[in-house]
Amino acid sequence: MHLLQCKAVQQAVRGLCGRFYGTLPGTFCSDTKQSIDKLIPLRPSQMKQLAFLIALSVLSLLGYVAGVYLLVVIVKHYPWVSPFVFMDTHGGALFSLRGAALQPAAFMGVTAACLAFDAACVGLSQSSLKRLLEATTSASTRVDLFYTVLRLIGGFNVLVFIFSFGTLIWLVNQIHRVLHIGILHHVHSYTIQFAVVCLINTFIGYWTHRLMHTRWMWELHKVHHSAEEMNIITNFRSHPIEQLTVTLSNAFPVALLGASPSVILVYGALNMIYGSLAHSEIRHKSRIWDILFITPAAHRIHHSDRPEHFDTNYGVLTLWDYLFGTYYLPSNEKLHYGVQDGETFNRSRYLFELFDNVRRWLSPIWTHRRSPDFPQESTIHAARDTQATTIQE
Ligand SMILES: [Zn+2]
Ligand SMILES: [Zn+2]
Repeated sequence: MHLLQCKAVQQAVRGLCGRFYGTLPGTFCSDTKQSIDKLIPLRPSQMKQLAFLIALSVLSLLGYVAGVYLLVVIVKHYPWVSPFVFMDTHGGALFSLRGAALQPAAFMGVTAACLAFDAACVGLSQSSLKRLLEATTSASTRVDLFYTVLRLIGGFNVLVFIFSFGTLIWLVNQIHRVLHIGILHHVHSYTIQFAVVCLINTFIGYWTHRLMHTRWMWELHKVHHSAEEMNIITNFRSHPIEQLTVTLSNAFPVALLGASPSVILVYGALNMIYGSLAHSEIRHKSRIWDILFITPAAHRIHHSDRPEHFDTNYGVLTLWDYLFGTYYLPSNEKLHYGVQDGETFNRSRYLFELFDNVRRWLSPIWTHRRSPDFPQESTIHAARDTQATTIQE
């Protein structure tokens, strides 16, 4: 018998959770108790998914620790590797062993803070946290969890970070020896550097996101848009190749202009907080927020499955969407999220989907080689046009 199917284990878990949540006050307590009651006992298929996610998290964290340890050993024996991985064993480099070990803790801490802020704003019954507690009943949230675990483990996150940031800074230093384009080296104020990095990166982020909506990248970006519920952790639901592209586009141009690595890291951390809150159900009253930022309400429009909402609100700052004609002012209308061929997403074949997305992304290239009748528009954009015409009629 499966361990989690055992009645005694279920009762023990429920008792422990009840005891812990019993110390918490008011509606939080009763809401959460109900959530836990729904969570346990689970159907056998849900048990398998939960057990798979827990096992994956544990293995991933172990893999992360082993990966960092291996890097330390490599750097110790081959010190010339140090600048490439942005790490040294004396803790002098930005990405030190301690920094590496703290990275998953910081990731979980920031996510937990965003979940708590969201619950405080919208109430526990509407919160991302509650949907996470009931993840076994929502296929979309389970996929969100899978990609969050992937991000947490460092299998992707640390590799992306090291090879797109550590190696990148080394590469940029080599370029600066030949080309003197590091103009931000002369700006000694961190505040001004940060403001410049914000402007440049939000501009680049806007166009990178628009690129993701073209036929060249849509199949990968669809992973993010296939979410059928908004949740703080939907922010982490993106394909690792997209993640690599975004990390590079956020770090390379500003590093080339001479921005300090710590300013780039601070921007990255704040961007993560913004991205998490943008995927919440938080509603705001003051229109000032809409003038400044693509608010959670505006980003929900970006995820909406209505044709009139397609390809809008790409950015972080409203400025870029407004300037380039893609801004759509949000209202309190009821929205549905997801993509047209949603039936291929939100299943339990997480790893299969991860690789199948790459196959679908690359398959038009092979088709193009075999046949001259390669469609000029991607399936999704053609489908979107068809749906828009049907609605207008
Ligand atoms: Zn998008
Ligand atoms: Zn999104």
